[in-house]
Amino acid sequence: MASDHPLPGATDSASSFSIHESGWLTPARHCLSPHCDARPGNPTIDLLVIHGISLPPGKFGGPWIEKLFLGELPPAADPYFATIAHLRVSAHLLIRRDGEVVQYVPFTQRAWHAGESAFEGRERCNDFSIGIELEGADEVPYAEPQYLVLARIIQKIMQTYPGITRTRIVGHSDIAPGRKTDPGEYFDWPKLSSLLKLTAR
Ligand SMILES: [Zn+2]
Repeated sequence: MASDHPLPGATDSASSFSIHESGWLTPARHCLSPHCDARPGNPTIDLLVIHGISLPPGKFGGPWIEKLFLGELPPAADPYFATIAHLRVSAHLLIRRDGEVVQYVPFTQRAWHAGESAFEGRERCNDFSIGIELEGADEVPYAEPQYLVLARIIQKIMQTYPGITRTRIVGHSDIAPGRKTDPGEYFDWPKLSSLLKLTAR
């Protein structure tokens, strides 16, 4: 990014995303996953988990992430798919390489993204978190449009769910160490932090 020039759209777009009280983000493509349910006990939503995913691993642009989240992944389409097609998983949002945003679960519902996990000793992070998947792989840098869109969305999420503070934005590997490695070492946390400052009001 050019340091002498404001990030294009970073400020004017901070307010362009909105979150309806039903938990749906706009603008985004909405595609409800069956892999969600009510948040048990109606907890305060106070954690945001960033993930990375690509299907097959390392390949971008196909329809397979969406098919997985919808429970429609064909096991025979790739040797890897046979090992995961049975999984019932989802995320609230997916941000594709070009910055397209797809929402599979409204924030008010529990998406099934974190699995066995703990944050500050509290288990079952799905109960109280929002999960955002970035289309990517551990060994590949994420794309610039993904950071810009991610920062704008997080800013809106933090306004809507003030329990999600800067120290409560974590990677999947932080809450499931030893089991998960995403979003991977190439995810640029300092860049996300600086973008969040830019988009802050
Ligand atoms: Zn993950």
